[in-house]
Amino acid sequence: MEDFQSYRDNGVLTLEELRNHYSSCFTCGVSWSEDHVSLDCSECGGYAMQRPCPACDGQCCSIWSRDMAASHHSRQAKWEGQCKGGWKVPERLL
Ligand SMILES: [Zn+2]
Ligand SMILES: [Zn+2]
Repeated sequence: MEDFQSYRDNGVLTLEELRNHYSSCFTCGVSWSEDHVSLDCSECGGYAMQRPCPACDGQCCSIWSRDMAASHHSRQAKWEGQCKGGWKVPERLL
């Protein structure tokens, strides 16, 4: 804990803290990596790190992963994945 404290005193975030920050919602602050999510937050988009295929509403059974950089940047949930059913992805999800 001593190291941790000295990082704090220097005002420098530890790598762990940075990682936690990055995998959290910048809008509402919940931790996606801990599977927390706000249902009414557009950056969360109702899911944490993964969600069923948004193109076909999960019918193809593929799981998409959150694009964290894009989500943070646009303040909207963005997902990466491929629809096994071949459905076109609505533009707002790209
Ligand atoms: Zn959020
Ligand atoms: Zn699909």
